[in-house]
Amino acid sequence: MIDYHIHPGYSIDADPYSLEEYCIKALELGLREICFTTHCEFDPSRADLDWFVRCDGRIVPMHPPEWLNRYFKDIAMCAGMFRKDGLIVKAGLEAGFDLGLERNIEGVISQYPFDFVIGSVHCLDHIAISSETESPGYFRGKNLQEAAGAYFRTLAAAVASGLFDVIGHLDVYRRHGTPFYGEATELMYQSHIDEVLTLMVKNGTGLELNTSALRHNRGLFYPAEQILMMAVEKGVSNFTIGSDCHRISELGRNIFPAVESAKKIGIKFSVYERRKPRLVEEM
Ligand SMILES: [Zn+2]
Ligand SMILES: [Zn+2]
Repeated sequence: MIDYHIHPGYSIDADPYSLEEYCIKALELGLREICFTTHCEFDPSRADLDWFVRCDGRIVPMHPPEWLNRYFKDIAMCAGMFRKDGLIVKAGLEAGFDLGLERNIEGVISQYPFDFVIGSVHCLDHIAISSETESPGYFRGKNLQEAAGAYFRTLAAAVASGLFDVIGHLDVYRRHGTPFYGEATELMYQSHIDEVLTLMVKNGTGLELNTSALRHNRGLFYPAEQILMMAVEKGVSNFTIGSDCHRISELGRNIFPAVESAKKIGIKFSVYERRKPRLVEEM
């Protein structure tokens, strides 16, 4: 089993656990490979809200990203320390994407030797739709069609940028959108998904299965199973799986049932090294 979406203490919305504590827990759980994917946000207009990282017990600025030197050192230390126990540890990032941020993101991810970069849409119009407190501020001024249109336009731009190995929690708008707009939200992908999947195939962008959906009571994973089936049919070539854990008790959570369910629709998972995917033969 693998977990390719982990927020250690570097993420300020995560519990302050060290990478080493996560590795010890990963061994206990019998995970074979993990990838840390701490948050990095890039929208200058949200600097006061988002641009902070917990590093060495202190809250430090996210940009310029000097903390990444320490992050890579920490990961290299863990990778060396746990290799003999059979645990592979990779260095990743979850980059928050919004329209117009391509250059800012590229400037950071091209400077560091990441194994894996997730691109995620958390914000529309500089408002975090992934946040319970902020999202009503975005949804209130828009009908469901407008909100879905804006989300998928942003998502398409994220894929078109070619900057990301996979798209994270592709339909995360369901988390707070469905409680706000109702069940019709669950079908909003239908008029937009084909364009996004076509772009993913064209650009070689992969797709993440994110098991935090179960914690949010939105099914077994993001994206919904119908989207996954379409992705397989279209020929999306790489899939990863991650718990999106923000505390140690969530590490690896629901990965096993998600993998079993994904296998039934023909999905094979990949791991990454220095941004190159490799198919996992057995899971
Ligand atoms: Zn995310
Ligand atoms: Zn995440």
